[in-house]
Formats: sequence, C-alpha cells, structure tokens
Amino acid sequence: MDFLPDEDHDLLRSAVAGVVGRFGHAYFVEQARSGGNAKELWAALGEHGFVGVNIPAEYGGGGRGMTELALVEEECAAAGCPLLMLLVSPAICGSVIARYGSTEQKERWLPGLGTGAEKMAFAITEPDAGSNSHRISTVATPHADGWRLRGTKYYISGVDDAARMLVVTRTGIDQRTGRGELSLFVVDVDTPGLTRAQIPVELLATEKQFTLWFDDVDVGPDRLVGPLGGALRPLFDGLNPERILSAALLNGIGRYALARAAAYAGQREVWGVPIGSHQGIAHPLAQAAIDVELARLMTQKAAWLYDAGADAAEASNMAKFAAADAAAAALDQAIQTHGGNGMATEYGLSTLWGMTRLLRIAPVSREMILNFVAQHTLGLPRSY
Ligand SMILES: Cc1cc2nc3c(=O)[nH]c(=O)nc-3n(C[C@H](O)[C@H](O)[C@H](O)COP(=O)(O)OP(=O)(O)OC[C@H]3O[C@@H](n4cnc5c(N)ncnc54)[C@H](O)[C@@H]3O)c2cc1C
Repeated sequence: MDFLPDEDHDLLRSAVAGVVGRFGHAYFVEQARSGGNAKELWAALGEHGFVGVNIPAEYGGGGRGMTELALVEEECAAAGCPLLMLLVSPAICGSVIARYGSTEQKERWLPGLGTGAEKMAFAITEPDAGSNSHRISTVATPHADGWRLRGTKYYISGVDDAARMLVVTRTGIDQRTGRGELSLFVVDVDTPGLTRAQIPVELLATEKQFTLWFDDVDVGPDRLVGPLGGALRPLFDGLNPERILSAALLNGIGRYALARAAAYAGQREVWGVPIGSHQGIAHPLAQAAIDVELARLMTQKAAWLYDAGADAAEASNMAKFAAADAAAAALDQAIQTHGGNGMATEYGLSTLWGMTRLLRIAPVSREMILNFVAQHTLGLPRSY
C-alpha cells in the first residue's frame, strides 16, 4: 500500500491531460451533436500510446495495466471528453484477447488495438435477455468451415467505427443447470448476413448505438476466442475492466464538474460576496468532493487487484456503483451552483448529464450490483 504520488503516473496523467486539453469539452459536444466519432482525439491518444497502454508490449501496446488505462480514461473525462470506446475496445476486447486468445489471434488483433488504429466493439446485450446473460439466444452452430451465427443484439456501441466486434454467443445448454454455454467470437463488422440499425438515444456521446441482426453470419474456426462453451471466466475478465473504466470515466466527470463548480462559486457574486461563501453552496460541493475521492480510491483498488491477477469482481462492482452515484451528485450540484447557467451549453455541464445517467444503468445496473454485493459480500440468499 502506497499513497504517495507516483512519478510515473503523474507524468502519464499530465501527458494525457495535455493531449485532451487541446480538444476539450466543446470539441466533444460538437462531435457528439454532428455524429462524429472524435476520430482526431482518438488518433492523438493512439499516437502517444495512451489508447493501448494496457495491451502487452510484444503486441504493440504500452505493456502496462488497467491502472494506467483507467488513468487515461479519467483524464479524458476530467477534460470533458468521456470516451465510451475506451471501455470497450482496449478494456474488454484487449483484455480478453490478451488473456485468452491464441498466439495467432493475439498477433492478428492486438497490434491494432495497441496503437488504437483499430477499434473492436463488444456485443452481449440482447432484447429478450437483458441483464440475464445466461438467457442470450444468439446461437453459434458448427459447420464444415467454422461457425454460423444467428440472433439479435442491441445497444451495441461504436459498431460504425469498429473493424470488428467480440460477440457473446450460445453454443450449447448446460444439462445440469439449464443455462446457456457461452462462447466468444470475433466477427468483422462487414461480414455478409450482418445488418444494423442505429438506435436513437438521448445521450451526448461520440459513440452511436446499434441493433444488430446476425442472419446466418459465417465465421472461420479461427474466430473462436477462449474455450468453447466456457466463456464465463473470460467474460468476467473482460467485464471487470469495463466496470473499472466506467468508474474511471465517472470519476473524471466528477472532477470536471467540481472544478467548474468551485471556479464559478468562487467568483459569482449575488449578495456582495461569492456564492461559495454560503454553506448552502459550499457544503454539498465539499460532500461531493469526498464522495468522488472515495470512488477514486475504490477504482484504484479494483484496477490494482485486476492487474495483480486477483479477484477484482467485488471491488470493480463497488467502484462502478460508488463512482456512478458520486458523479451524478457532483454534476447535479455543479449545475445547481451555476443557477440558470447550469442549463447553458456554454457552461458545459448539462451536456454530460446523459452520460452520467447512463452509467447508473450500463454496463451493469445499480440493482445488479446490489444483488451481487448482497449475495457475495453479505452472504444473503440469491434473490433472482
Ligand atoms: C448508451 C448505451 C450503450 C450501451 N453499449 C453497449 C455495448 O457496447 N455492448 C453491449 O453489449 N451492451 C451495451 N449496452 C447495454 C447495457 O449494458 C444494458 O442496457 C444494461 O446492461 C441493462 O440491461 P437492460 O437494458 O436489458 O435492462 P434490463 O435487464 O431489462 O433491466 C431493467 C431494469 O430492471 C432491473 N433489474 C433487472 N434484473 C433485476 C434483478 N434481478 N433484480 C433487481 N433489478 C433487476 C435493472 O437493474 C434495470 O433497472 C448499452 C446500453 C446503452 C443505453
């Protein structure tokens, strides 16, 4: 345990902040509103090795871990540019392929993820399964030349901007439990039989969401990643990083909101003194600062456990839960502090509300985290 400033991490933080600072929240909003994918920002981050900082060095990445990738995401969000694609491409897909891919698969896909030149989307959610991933009905059936995929996924982020995606499928049923046996496949987004439609959402983000239809999509045998029917372990090794990165993004939004609120409260005068001298303004901001810092600590713990190869599930869930509530409270209080200006585009606060609200639902909802903690931390009966 060491809470002294880490020179390496401080350097990484300021380098990322320097790059993202050249773009800023106005760029993020413009890209999100115009349907852009923040390509310039992603390319600049990739150029400096930040996008693939967690990808093993022998495959073109930075050779560091989730701690460093979380730091990159936090700094992006703290500069007003929260990037969902970092949760998906390097965090989920990069982690799963690095840990479970064959040497050939790593050589083929990791270099693109390591430099950021290629993005990989991730598809698990289905209309009829929802949070219950055991019920997914996208099926992969073996045939002479590989596998044939059939089914529907929805709310899949960034497919228009990705070369490939990691798709969770069912390849059998466990006769003992009746649950689906899951397998992971890498599918090129332009494979015949795969169609998509954008889902309109009330969210300012530089990633779009899609419904995907897999209508007899054929992939070769070399596209199966990890054990056939045994994707649960690899999945959790990918979903914990997604939770850690979600928490980091939220912590960045919390910092961003509090920095803006403190600056505004320090100079705005209504009764002859700065509004920040009223405890009605100062105390909720101070409380939000405490909650954001607590969430950051839990996020660092989760990332540290993940990088150490230990069980990071509980800490990742707790970090995501705490960060989502802390960021929502910080942003809400920052908006309140700005009075009417809190709603103005110019002040760049309400533009982050959709993103902050989203991350209480996705990638795993508050309720499913509370279910996890009730069952695994407190030992209560499983409730569903
Ligand atoms: C903008 C956006 C981007 C997304 N990106 C991706 C992506 O890239 N890839 C991907 O695969 N998915 C993605 N998702 C999907 C997201 O992960 C899911 O929406 C989320 O996991 C919740 O699942 P659901 O929407 O099916 O909700 P449901 O499972 O239908 O849940 C609805 C409500 O019921 C509650 N609930 C469900 N079960 C229980 C229970 N047992 N106990 C208590 N409460 C319960 C939930 O907490 C929730 O409040 C995205 C979603 C959005 C909105």
